[in-house]
Amino acid sequence: MTSVPATTTATRNSRPQTDLTVLRREQLSPHMVRIVAGGPGFAGYVNNDYADRYVKIAFPQPGIDYPEPLDLWAVRESMPRSQWPYTRTYTVRWVDMAAQELAIDFVIHGDEGLAGPWAASARPGDRLTFTGPGGGYTPDPGADWYLFAGDESALPAIGAAIESLPQDARGLALIEVDSDADVQPISAPAGVELRWLLRRGVPAGDSGLLVNAVRDAEWPEGRVQVFAHGERGYMKGLRDVFYVQRGLERSQVSLSGYWAKGRVEDDFQAEKKLPIGKI
Ligand SMILES: Cc1cc2nc3c(=O)[nH]c(=O)nc-3n(C[C@H](O)[C@H](O)[C@H](O)COP(=O)(O)OP(=O)(O)OC[C@H]3O[C@@H](n4cnc5c(N)ncnc54)[C@H](O)[C@@H]3O)c2cc1C
Repeated sequence: MTSVPATTTATRNSRPQTDLTVLRREQLSPHMVRIVAGGPGFAGYVNNDYADRYVKIAFPQPGIDYPEPLDLWAVRESMPRSQWPYTRTYTVRWVDMAAQELAIDFVIHGDEGLAGPWAASARPGDRLTFTGPGGGYTPDPGADWYLFAGDESALPAIGAAIESLPQDARGLALIEVDSDADVQPISAPAGVELRWLLRRGVPAGDSGLLVNAVRDAEWPEGRVQVFAHGERGYMKGLRDVFYVQRGLERSQVSLSGYWAKGRVEDDFQAEKKLPIGKI
């Protein structure tokens, strides 16, 4: 791993650290694993109301001595950036305040990377340390209908957002996954159609299925609110669909790259802060 951990403008107060214990791992589908975590550290978790609430999971670098207990904000103040733990961004799929546990769903995308391989073999008792949650999207009650578009990295956020909609909501969700076996149950209002796009072995981010499906879909009448996230190249394609083809206003659209083909998250997040990296 040659990347330098990404910087952040967040602070100890805006993104507090939470230290959880893995309680169980569930194989949701061939390419998705759910980690349910809780334990005594859950008492320090500060929830928020965003449908897409996300956390920054810390992965300490091997060979670096960190103070124990690990205090991520103290590390940032006292150690050079090249030694900070790596971070990976993940949606909180659900929080159960009564049971004091939360779930994070990880795409299993092969042997590369930190978070995917970690989740694939995580065991009860393992540590899960993160800062956050942050968030940016809440369904707008003034929208006539809702459009959701994403690949499996955005499936947890899309699922949580759809399940937060009122029962009379109308909408369309276009979700790209590998195969039928990766389709997940989502408890959607009757007026929200779930349309699964199957890549059937084509690598994620290569098929263009999602962009084509959004471009070609028939849109209902009325003011739409869009939530579109996933591979960066896909999001660039969708940006053109929303702003050029459909003439939407910025305020109607939540759109960002959740990952980028061939780039680890540190590099991808660093690029996002440069003019060239902006979608
Ligand atoms: C706000 C936000 C919320 C997110 N929520 C989730 C979530 O709930 N669940 C989730 O799984 N992801 C989510 N992501 C995406 C996740 O942060 C990235 O996929 C991240 O790169 C995974 O880290 P890694 O250590 O496994 O791989 P990295 O070390 O970052 O990358 C290693 C290699 O794997 C490739 N890669 C990374 N992600 C994928 C993927 N999904 N499919 C195929 N190849 C990939 C990279 O291109 C690179 O070549 C979210 C991202 C953001 C910004």
